Amino acid sequence: MKYVSTRGQAESLNFEGVTLTGLARDGGLYVPETIPTFSADKIRGMRGKSYAEVAFEVIQPFVAGSVSDGDLKKMLDATYGDTFRHSAVAPLVQLDNNAWLLELFHGPTLAFKDFALQLLGRFFDHFTTTSDEKLTILGATSGDTGSAAIEGCRGRKNVSIFMLHPKDRVSDVQRRQMTTVIEPNVVNIAIEGTFDDCQALVKACFNDLDFRDNVGLTAVNSINWARVMAQIVYYFTSAVALGAPDRKISYSVPTGNFGDIFAGYIAKGMGLPIETLAIATNSNDILARTLETGRYASGQASSTLSPSMDIQVSSNFERLLFDLAGRDGNRVKAYMDTFTRENGFDLEAGHLEILRRDFIAGRADDITTQAVMKAYQKNAGYIADPHTAVGLDVADRLLPNGAVPKVTLSTAHPVKFGAAVESACGVIPELPAHMADLMEREERFEVLPNDKADLQARVLAGDVS
Ligand SMILES: *Cc1c(COP(=O)(O)O)cnc(C)c1O
Repeated sequence: MKYVSTRGQAESLNFEGVTLTGLARDGGLYVPETIPTFSADKIRGMRGKSYAEVAFEVIQPFVAGSVSDGDLKKMLDATYGDTFRHSAVAPLVQLDNNAWLLELFHGPTLAFKDFALQLLGRFFDHFTTTSDEKLTILGATSGDTGSAAIEGCRGRKNVSIFMLHPKDRVSDVQRRQMTTVIEPNVVNIAIEGTFDDCQALVKACFNDLDFRDNVGLTAVNSINWARVMAQIVYYFTSAVALGAPDRKISYSVPTGNFGDIFAGYIAKGMGLPIETLAIATNSNDILARTLETGRYASGQASSTLSPSMDIQVSSNFERLLFDLAGRDGNRVKAYMDTFTRENGFDLEAGHLEILRRDFIAGRADDITTQAVMKAYQKNAGYIADPHTAVGLDVADRLLPNGAVPKVTLSTAHPVKFGAAVESACGVIPELPAHMADLMEREERFEVLPNDKADLQARVLAGDVS
C-alpha cells in the first residue's frame, strides 16, 4: 500500500515510511492512495471471530509490502490477546432497546488510545529492530495520549519517548499514569505553560527539518496514520456483532482531533454499512460549527469536564478535507494556507454538501454532560465518563430511534475523571486492581520553560542516565 500527502507535495511512502515519519514534509497528513473494499461476504465472515483475527483482516491491506502476514499476526496477538483486561477487548453494553455503548477503556491506561498506541509501539519496535535505526518520539498531551504512548513505548530498545504536559494542568491520575513509568527511555517533561504551548513546541521541532532528521523524530498523536488505522477495527467488530453487513449501524463519537471518528469514516469507505456518523463535541465545537455554517474556524479553547476534547483545531479534519476536495492536494493546501493566515476558511458549497452526507454533529456543554451522566446512572445503572456522556447526549438527541442500532463510543474509564463522576453521580469510581497503588508510586519528571532551544537541547541529551 502506498500513502500520499493531503497537500500533494511530499513524496509518497509505504506503511513503514508513514509510521516512522508521522507528519508529511509538506506539512500534510498521509492517507492511503486507495481504500481497500470488503465484500458483504467477507464482512459476514467476521462473525464469531476474535478481535485479533478481525484486526488482521482489516489491517493487512494497509500494511501490505511493509509487514509480513506472520509478523502482523504476532503483533496483533500480543497487542489484543494480552494487554487488554476484557476478553472481548472492545465489549458492547446495551443501554436501551436499540442503544449500545462500545467500551474502549479496557486497555492498560483506561482510554481508547491504547488500541492504537499498544500496536504503534510494536510497529516502532519492529521497524527499528529490522533497520537498527534510532527513533525519537516527541509528543504533547493534555492527558490520555501521553500515558497510552508511554505505555506502548516503554522499554523498547531503539525508541526514546519525550512527552510534554502542561505543568500543574493535567489531573493527578493522568499525570501519575505518565510520571510513574520509571524507564530510561521515558522522559516526562512538565512545560511551564499551557497545552497549546506544548503543542506549539512539538510542532516547531517537527518543522525544524534538520533537528527532525538528526534525532529521527516521529509522532504518536493521531496525525500518525497507524493510529487511525488501528481504530478502524472496532467499528467492524461492533457492527458485525450487531448484524452488519445485513443491518445498518450508526455511531456517535466523542471527538477532539477527529481521529477516532475519521476511522469510522474509513470503515464505511471499506464497505461497512454505517448509516450516520455523529460528531459529538463539548463546548469546544469547531466541528459542529463547521457542519452548521460551512466555516471551519478555530476559537479560544475553553476548559471543560471532558478535557481530552478541549481542542480548537482538529488535525485529522484535513484528511477528510482531502476527500471532500476530490483528493486534490493543491485544493487542500489552499484551504490550509488560508487557515494559517486567517484562522479559518469557508468550505465550498459542494464540499459542505458531501460532508453532510456522512456526518451530523452536536455539542453538549458541562451542565448537559453532568445531567446525562446522572440520567444514565439512574436509568441504566451505568456510570459513564464525561467524554462518553457527550457522545450519549448526541446519540439520544440527534440519531433517530428506529431500526438502526445506535452505538456510542465510550472513550475512557470513569475513574480517569473521578472528580467529574463524583460531582455528577455522587460515587467515586475505583481504580482497577493493576493501578490500585498508583497514588503511592514514585514519580519522575523534569520541568522546562516554554522554550524551543531548551527543549531541543534536552532531547539531544537523550535518555535518562
Ligand atoms: C483523545 C480522546 C478523545 C478524542 O478523540 P479524537 O480522536 O481526538 O477525536 C475523546 N475521549 C477521550 C477520553 C480521549 O482520550
